[in-house]
Amino acid sequence: MDTAWGDGTRSVRAGEEAPLPGTPLRPSPVFAAPYHLGDRPPREGGADAYARTEHPTLRVFEAAVGELDGGRCLSFATGMAAISAAVLAVARAGDRVVLPSDGYYTTRLLAREELERFGVDVEYVATPEIGAVAARGGLTGARLVLLETPSNPQLDVCDIAAVARATRAAGAVLAVDNTTATPLGQRPLALGADLTLGSDTKALTGHSDLLLGHVSTADDELYARLKAFRDSTGGLPGPFEAWLGHRSMSTLDLRLARQAATAAAVADLLAAHPAVTGVRWPWRPGDPSRDLASRQMLRPGGVVSAELADAAAVSRLLTTARLWTAATSFGGVHSTVDRRAQWGGDAVPAGFVRLSCGIEDTADLVADLTAALDAV
Ligand SMILES: *Cc1c(COP(=O)(O)O)cnc(C)c1O
Repeated sequence: MDTAWGDGTRSVRAGEEAPLPGTPLRPSPVFAAPYHLGDRPPREGGADAYARTEHPTLRVFEAAVGELDGGRCLSFATGMAAISAAVLAVARAGDRVVLPSDGYYTTRLLAREELERFGVDVEYVATPEIGAVAARGGLTGARLVLLETPSNPQLDVCDIAAVARATRAAGAVLAVDNTTATPLGQRPLALGADLTLGSDTKALTGHSDLLLGHVSTADDELYARLKAFRDSTGGLPGPFEAWLGHRSMSTLDLRLARQAATAAAVADLLAAHPAVTGVRWPWRPGDPSRDLASRQMLRPGGVVSAELADAAAVSRLLTTARLWTAATSFGGVHSTVDRRAQWGGDAVPAGFVRLSCGIEDTADLVADLTAALDAV
């Protein structure tokens, strides 16, 4: 792929082979678990044998995502399967692993319920603090550092390149959960991370109808380690998911552009409304994440967070709104609101909400949200 191409071109053309007359523009999914072996030993000549290790539809999808990430991609059935693989393929008993204390809740649950059971020593550092911890040598002795930037749900950011220098000096592996940004919004591998990973259930595929995740790396040894881990644990997507994931990501640039335009309008509207406090959108002037986000990231995203008075206020907002729907997850074509405290896990106030801007018309979403906020 031509690296000078823009995001719209790259979203469509990433991973595609040169066109062959008579073939479809995109290969169709190949629905098979075992393949004919004939009289050859399995995999001689690189032929497919059994789809749990890899399959043609997955190769095409992984080539596309890997090109956007600037590395080689391994796709997984969910974001958590990808994160589990990255952590479990790297950490050994007795190792210290540093995770965000304010990131995706299930990542902390994975650490508490599974990693600690295997004797991995887990340390939690808040996203706004990790830069200072790295600068004063606090990552020495760590085996793996996982960043999540912008963090979900509070949208704090940290300096990937600075933490990458510290992890390299400490001999540790740096992984970045890039779910919120997507590969078009941020390229952690180019900033010095060893692994970029995330949930493709969110904006990358973006239609709220798929579960997927992936890890990409430019390091052949880490790739081989992760591939071996996936081969033996079996958490890869089947042909239908891989095909639909690839089809869905073709529109990533268009969806992100509309979502970001709406997010800018929504952040302004929320900030001006008396029923709302604590509006966060990393590209809003004055936001604590703004300077670093505009230096490190390539484009804005569609997730905004804010605080209403309490759970009842959020409930009034949601019963009045016609377009903003109560749902968890984010990055899809529908606009949604999630009151995070209802899930437990995140240390946020009862009225804290994460708004995910969809791709409906910005004017309709703004009018609907304004009416709903006035009813609060
Ligand atoms: C949703 C999410 C995950 C987990 O992804 P699933 O596809 O739901 O398993 C991981 N990290 C972040 C930041 C997420 O938002």
